[in-house]
Amino acid sequence: MQTLTLTRPGELRLTDTPAPSAPGAGESLVRVRASGVCGTDLHAFGGKQPFFTYPRIPGHELGVEVLAVGLDVTNVRVGDRCAVEPYLNCGRCIACRKGKTNCCETLQVLGVHVDGGWREEIIVPAAKLHRSAQLTFEQLALVETLGIGAHAVTRGDPTPGESTLVIGAGPIGLAVAQFAAVAGAKVTMLDVNDARRAFAADWLGVATLEARNLTPEKLRAELGGELPTLVFDATGSPASMRQSFLWPAQGGRMVFASLVQGEIAFDDPNFHRRELTLLSTRNSTAAEFKRIIALMESGRIDTAPWVTHRATIEEVPAVFASWTKPETGVVKAMIQL
Ligand SMILES: [Zn+2]
Ligand SMILES: [Zn+2]
Repeated sequence: MQTLTLTRPGELRLTDTPAPSAPGAGESLVRVRASGVCGTDLHAFGGKQPFFTYPRIPGHELGVEVLAVGLDVTNVRVGDRCAVEPYLNCGRCIACRKGKTNCCETLQVLGVHVDGGWREEIIVPAAKLHRSAQLTFEQLALVETLGIGAHAVTRGDPTPGESTLVIGAGPIGLAVAQFAAVAGAKVTMLDVNDARRAFAADWLGVATLEARNLTPEKLRAELGGELPTLVFDATGSPASMRQSFLWPAQGGRMVFASLVQGEIAFDDPNFHRRELTLLSTRNSTAAEFKRIIALMESGRIDTAPWVTHRATIEEVPAVFASWTKPETGVVKAMIQL
């Protein structure tokens, strides 16, 4: 069957791999219908994703159709349309026992640590399938991306009306801004890219600010006299993450929603003077998948404008490099299978 394999950084190939056999107990065989292209995939293509090894079949944002189920599978049936929660956790470690399945000690993410879904068929644990009778395969493929934003907002825990700054208006920043807005926060977005700011302003109706040459004084003035009490960085840029320690108000919280290779240094007196709380966030949980699907089904979350680029599996190797360039205007590229 047709499969996209990242053989090494910079080389994504259309390959032929054997179709999977029948699903075992607790497993399901699914047909992949749509898969989003994530920052993780783009960074892996560039050789800059810290958890990635090669060769690897990428693909963790998946909208799938159930083809067969193994013994003891009751949550899905043949023909169901599902989102895949691509986080394979052990169920026994301290994080799993506390319900933090998203950061299991031995977590394996489909398409990152083990082969993922950029192929026609794949076997997954049925418990990782979340069905919807209403959503399209593309919408289902977007649930994982939205989960990153939803979980980041769970971590930051905004209160209604709280002044919240989201740095970076790419897909993760947009998802963060959207769930912060659902929680009632007052959201302002920061980006260096004019097109991305315009997209965020049009689509989410949030205030936006040019990130270049910003100072705490300017930010304070823009926000009506006070700095934000909650700051998310979703840029994947070490320079922005270092700088983000300047933006929270005294006693504020920061969430690093994106991850970078290497170390982030910060000025400790500034950190202590403001008594800042710094949080990381990783992946999302089954409960968040279910909540997101319900929000999409009810129309409270609308992701239709996200998909700016589409390609079939055959077309992907030729166009993939262009998706790594912000000037192509990519918000979310979708692979159709
Ligand atoms: Zn992703
Ligand atoms: Zn675990």
